[in-house]
Amino acid sequence: MSVAGTIEVVTELNRLRAADRREQRFRFYAYGLGLFATLMTAVELYRGRDLVRQEVLPVFVFSLFIGLAWFFSFSLSSRSSLSISLDMAYLMTALCVLPHPLPIMVAFAGAALGCHLRVRDGRARQSPFLQMLGLNTGGLVLAAVVGERVSAAMEPFWKFHILTWGSVLSIVALFLTYTMINVVVMVVAMLLKGEPVLSTLLHYLKFIPSIELFTIPLSLGLALLYAGFGVWGFTPMAATIMLASGLLKKLNQARGELGAAYEQLQTRSRELRILNTIGREISTSLDPEVVFAQVSRNLQRILDAPHLFLALAHRTPNDSYVEYVARDGVVQPRPERELGHGFTTWVLETRRPLLVQDLVLDRDSIQCAPVILDAAVRSIMATPLTVSGEATGVLCVESPRPGAYTVDHLSVFTTIAQQAAVALENARNFTMATVDGLTRLYLRDFFSRKLEEEQVRSRRYGSTFTVLMLDLDHFKDINDRTGHLAGDRYLVRIGEVIRETMRAADVPCRYGGEEFCILLPETDLEGGRKIAERIRSRVANLEVRVGEAILRTTISIGIAAYPADFPGSLSGLLEKADQALYAAKQSGRDRVLTTAARPVPSRKSR
Ligand code: GH3
Ligand code: MG
Ligand code: MG
Repeated sequence: MSVAGTIEVVTELNRLRAADRREQRFRFYAYGLGLFATLMTAVELYRGRDLVRQEVLPVFVFSLFIGLAWFFSFSLSSRSSLSISLDMAYLMTALCVLPHPLPIMVAFAGAALGCHLRVRDGRARQSPFLQMLGLNTGGLVLAAVVGERVSAAMEPFWKFHILTWGSVLSIVALFLTYTMINVVVMVVAMLLKGEPVLSTLLHYLKFIPSIELFTIPLSLGLALLYAGFGVWGFTPMAATIMLASGLLKKLNQARGELGAAYEQLQTRSRELRILNTIGREISTSLDPEVVFAQVSRNLQRILDAPHLFLALAHRTPNDSYVEYVARDGVVQPRPERELGHGFTTWVLETRRPLLVQDLVLDRDSIQCAPVILDAAVRSIMATPLTVSGEATGVLCVESPRPGAYTVDHLSVFTTIAQQAAVALENARNFTMATVDGLTRLYLRDFFSRKLEEEQVRSRRYGSTFTVLMLDLDHFKDINDRTGHLAGDRYLVRIGEVIRETMRAADVPCRYGGEEFCILLPETDLEGGRKIAERIRSRVANLEVRVGEAILRTTISIGIAAYPADFPGSLSGLLEKADQALYAAKQSGRDRVLTTAARPVPSRKSR
């Protein structure tokens, strides 16, 4: 493992340890609050046991409503994760109408029932039941204890059988008390957990007005009903509100599911659009580098993929592959590499995709040794390119973000890779059919097609073009002296020299053994002569070392231009260039001659 990798693992372990410590502190806090609530309730229950026995029905009814209110909590806005529960309204009503210590009993029993129902509903699975119970009973019992003090202080102001400003003021005071206690319990929990306090708090405070809108009039109404008609006057109204709350919760759930389905639909439609675009774009190109650039650009629109690479297996016995790398949108080919023990080889050999969610945590469970472009890489997704069951290459994306790729991503990625595989195979077949394997120059058929097209174009637009006919001088001597294989190495270099001298539109071709022909579109005789001269001089200065030997020779070149030298047929035009070449050979080799040179007998007599 590299130093950077080691540092990364150590940092990750420290991060996990710190998270563990925070979790432990939070656990103590939750259990502490729960213990406080239980003790407080038990003591008050013991002290007020006679009253509780007499008033068991209201305690039961209020607890039931508080518990159900938690279960039926709903949110007001689709943008908010904050859910609203009407437990506050019921507890505030209890604080107004029930004598001490009944509100504390109600708070404890209501919170416990609410927790139980929420866990059964599956909404609170992420936090363990006892922690949630401790936190919630603690918070509600604390609110009841402080609320009792507040309602005792406000007693002179309220008369609950009639609506007065004093009653409204009392309810507002209770509302503020409850909210403050809720905020304190929440902030301490977040601080201990190491969660961002300020943003959550601001979000919560922003929603307080809408909670107020519900809770204050609701508590007031419920308290008046209770004062007038007792528990049976309160219950129908509270039950109706609970029903509405239940309906809102159902509505919330439906909206959530609809939102998730819509999002999924959007993702699928974007993926389909991109698949369609990739399909259209890559089928127009026959250059692997261009195909890869198009694939990587489109992949970056649906995946977090700052690093991509494409490996193409060579069908040669030496088991090598060529690689194209895209980093932050820039595509670069890399030198040919031999297959080793990395994951490119693994994917090629097993023909199976590879999905690494976190390179640091999953390091020991990966079946192969990934060769990583960047020490910061955490997620990898690679898939084989297969054509007719044969693995022709590997497409891979990498991200510094852990968990950047999922099984869903892999399925789209594999489909794109499949399209790329077909396009790359087409490119490979086209190259094999049109390009000479030794010199990488075009083959004669392709050249003839291009020549015909150029003649049609020139005739239509009245433009000119030039053909060069080239033949190495005394090449037979090189073969004789150093062998045919050394001669081939020299021809490879000649191919490079010619390609390096060409412009993008020029068509260089291997015409025969060591004879070449070049089509120069939009070029007159003079322009053609300059390019030919450049090739001649570069070949004259070329030295190719093969073992101990240094190979060196010259080249002769003949030129003919369209339409000036056109005798009526394209084969006639090539014949003219060939005659110029013959004239160059006759007049001493290593030179460039045009058709203006004196007429010479046909080449066949050479
Ligand atoms: P000249 O200056 O008159 O052209 O002399 P030359 O020896 O080059 O003669 P010519 O053009 O007739 O060259 C033909 C020789 O080129 C014969 C053969 O040894 C060599 N040759 C043709 N194709 C290949 C090839 O693919 N590889 C190698 N190594 N040699 C080839
Ligand atoms: Mg020759
Ligand atoms: Mg020849």
